[in-house]
Amino acid sequence: MFWRTGIITGFLFVVLTLTVRELFLVPSGDLRIHTLDVGQGDSILLVSPSGKNILIDGGPDTSALEHLGKYLSFFDRRIDLLILTHPDLDHITALPDILKRYRIETILLTGIQKNNAPRYESFLYQITQHTPSIIVADPAKDIDIGDGLILDIIWPPRSTARTKPSKANNTSVVIRAVFGSGSILLTGDIETKAEMEILMSGADIRSDILKVPHHGSRTSSSTWFLLAIKPALAIVSAGRDNQFGHPHLEVMERYRHFGIPVRNTAEEGTISLSFP
Ligand SMILES: [Zn+2]
Repeated sequence: MFWRTGIITGFLFVVLTLTVRELFLVPSGDLRIHTLDVGQGDSILLVSPSGKNILIDGGPDTSALEHLGKYLSFFDRRIDLLILTHPDLDHITALPDILKRYRIETILLTGIQKNNAPRYESFLYQITQHTPSIIVADPAKDIDIGDGLILDIIWPPRSTARTKPSKANNTSVVIRAVFGSGSILLTGDIETKAEMEILMSGADIRSDILKVPHHGSRTSSSTWFLLAIKPALAIVSAGRDNQFGHPHLEVMERYRHFGIPVRNTAEEGTISLSFP
């Protein structure tokens, strides 16, 4: 008799826990931005006001999978849009597994080529197995997510597709996500050269929040780029005690000098923000 009561109590506990968790994940009408604590790399989840999931990059290991389990509904294993900014290991590692375990509707990528990149090859192979629709990044074609969220593609130029750059950083997809009166600039790992070309293009990059380019490296976050964005907040995605010294002290000093507060996943873990 006791064991039966125990099983029923355990069952009710699991149901209650799942219900509370699912209630927490119900779309709130806000845009939610989670800069996931994946260590030295990037993985950022946007959840649109009506609950559409947009994942930008897959971090340096498979920890993004665990984080997704926390923020996405148990009953809705769907990612509406998966964006690969560039195929370096600190941005792509979890993506082949995410393609296996989630239903991916659409993938946005640059289409660059890369030699000796087994994880990129594995990612491209999984795409052929699961056949999501593919969009090649093109600044002339913005993406309307459908509930007030617009992804303004800023970079790279469409002609980048099928090139084989020696370094992929400056080919990173840069997106200005605009929702209501708020905006966030997602910059991948671009460095000064791409920052300058974006400025020269005349694109509107003013944004409330800036995902600091290239984990706060010394070769990014140039003065004129920051002055054009005028962010109220900057977020660094970096690993604790990482070997690259990211974010670089000189760059952090530049942010401080311009009065831009910086938050860092290495110090805080996952950083979650909401735009009403
Ligand atoms: Zn990176």
